[in-house]
Amino acid sequence: MIQSYKKSPKLATSYDAILIGSGIGCLCTGALLSKTGKKVLLLERHYTAGGFTHVFKRKGFEWDVGIHYIGEVQRPNSVLRKLFDYVSDKQLHWDDMGDVYDRIILGEKHYDFVKGVDNFKSQMIKYFPDEKLAINKYVDLIFSTNKAASKFYMDKALPKFISTFLGSYMRKKYLKFSDRTTYDVLSELTNNQTLIKVLCGQYGDYGLPPKQSSFAMHASVAKHYMQGGSVPAKGSSQILKTIEKVIEKSGGTILVRADVDKIIVDNNKAKGVRMTDGNHFYADTIISGTGVFNTFENLLPSDVIYRHKLNEKLKKVNPSVGYGCLYIGLNGSPQDLKLPKTNFWIYPEDLDHDSCVERFLDDNNAEFPLVYISFPASKFSDWSERYPGKSTIDIITMIPYEAFAKWDGTKWKKRGEDYEIKKEEFAQRLLKHLYKQLPQLKGSVEYYEFSTPLTAEHFSNYKQGSLYGIDHNPNRFQQKFLKPKTPVKGLYLTGQDIVTAGVGAALFSGLITAGAITGINFIKRIFNE
Ligand SMILES: Cc1cc2nc3c(=O)[nH]c(=O)nc-3n(C[C@H](O)[C@H](O)[C@H](O)COP(=O)(O)OP(=O)(O)OC[C@H]3O[C@@H](n4cnc5c(N)ncnc54)[C@H](O)[C@@H]3O)c2cc1C
Repeated sequence: MIQSYKKSPKLATSYDAILIGSGIGCLCTGALLSKTGKKVLLLERHYTAGGFTHVFKRKGFEWDVGIHYIGEVQRPNSVLRKLFDYVSDKQLHWDDMGDVYDRIILGEKHYDFVKGVDNFKSQMIKYFPDEKLAINKYVDLIFSTNKAASKFYMDKALPKFISTFLGSYMRKKYLKFSDRTTYDVLSELTNNQTLIKVLCGQYGDYGLPPKQSSFAMHASVAKHYMQGGSVPAKGSSQILKTIEKVIEKSGGTILVRADVDKIIVDNNKAKGVRMTDGNHFYADTIISGTGVFNTFENLLPSDVIYRHKLNEKLKKVNPSVGYGCLYIGLNGSPQDLKLPKTNFWIYPEDLDHDSCVERFLDDNNAEFPLVYISFPASKFSDWSERYPGKSTIDIITMIPYEAFAKWDGTKWKKRGEDYEIKKEEFAQRLLKHLYKQLPQLKGSVEYYEFSTPLTAEHFSNYKQGSLYGIDHNPNRFQQKFLKPKTPVKGLYLTGQDIVTAGVGAALFSGLITAGAITGINFIKRIFNE
């Protein structure tokens, strides 16, 4: 059972490993270490565990925060599915989203991303009949890029002396793709700017438009969903509920409201953590899943930061843009309200993605560069048993931190009336988009709440409420320090920053971190189960 640290439960002071944070990266690392018999302690500062996989409830409604769909879990033999099965003792099941996972909406036109590689290709060719060659080449390139990814990521878990010899060979092929922007690569395949805009219609899944994002990131997301999307059956909270049991089976503990202040380092060896209340916990292995900025800027003592020039390393990456989310509760079942399962990605029609972002960052009153609408109520097969006569919708858009920087330093729920007014303006703009797509929803909205980058920063601790940790630009993939092992002995990283954003990628980070700590080939284990 997950306990609140503040309620002072009886706790041991020493563990085999301490994990800071309880996002999917830490949950996976914790479960894999638990399966080798290690006693782990997960410390989560939020009042609830799971990081971005957590759900929250208000006024009888439930919303997901960082899960709207996950790819590659439909195939029972995919690495991702096998890994989820392994860390959850096969207790995690999936609800399929159906044939159309994403709909890209440009003005009055829409383009559906259809499940299955051949279906995807033929649907795109139907929209762009003159671009058959480019579309086929594009899909081939997506797959060849991802094929090169496995060696690149495998290198991250290798001991230093092996990586010194083999590393550059293992990374080389993937870097050829990751060094280029998405737009660079796509514009070599076609001149059709609408096709490029449509193919990049999921860029919100990694936060950067095509002229800034690394093609490797684009390819990873495009392939991830090409076999369709799924959500955890019975709600996203099942991720935590099932993995938690595996951790507890080996005597592990997850604590919430447990804010880590510093990692204790003695003679360049991580020894434990100091909590914000001054209490200490000890372990020979400390794993941070809180992101590189939190770990290297805040959690390590300053002499360690400067000795290893970690501050210099951080200059080579930057936090991704902030976001806002409108959480909506409606009267009526998903069937009554005719809610789709498909995610909507709505873009301005007049400019390319990069120009739309630029325009909005210059002036937040300009058209939103993207509006993403997800319909969780219709995706979960048991939703109406859990929430009869109710539905929920999430609408996400890009919001720079600067838009709300004025209220930096104020307290959650007590930021003042002008803050509420500004939130309401954004909420109304987003509702307009919803009603344009689904006019039948007018009059059914019972509750809504808009979260800002300040909300995200408050709950997730990411610098300036960044959406996806660090930016997925070409430069990111060149950074060798984004790996489990750190220059401090016994201190490891896990989570989205060492692989990429996405629940699947962060889960995978847990696999490479546990591999780097133990030297065990977990891939072999999960396929032999
Ligand atoms: C709005 C949104 C929508 C998304 N939608 C999808 C989607 O549909 N599909 C998908 O695959 N991915 C999606 N993602 C991305 C995905 O959710 C994340 O990439 C992934 O969950 C990150 O996992 P993580 O392991 O890196 O840790 P996180 O989930 O980021 O967790 C880190 C944890 O560390 C804790 N922490 C920080 N500092 C401390 C401290 N000092 N002491 C203790 N604890 C601390 C934080 O409170 C947090 O709980 C979305 C993300 C967002 C923000």
